[in-house]
Amino acid sequence: MLDTARIDCPYCGESFDIEVDCSAGSQQYVEDCTVCCQPILITTRCDDDGALLGVSVTREND
Ligand SMILES: [Zn+2]
Repeated sequence: MLDTARIDCPYCGESFDIEVDCSAGSQQYVEDCTVCCQPILITTRCDDDGALLGVSVTREND
């Protein structure tokens, strides 16, 4: 099951949508910003039913 979440790039501040797959539970992964192409560390939080609880983003290099 794919959810869509809106995030703000921690580098350029641009907002864009990402697809989040909660079938594997909470995850942490890196995805490049669609605007400035820098690596964003994305943390997703999902509940046991596969529902998306929240998404947080940080710079990968911090
Ligand atoms: Zn960016």
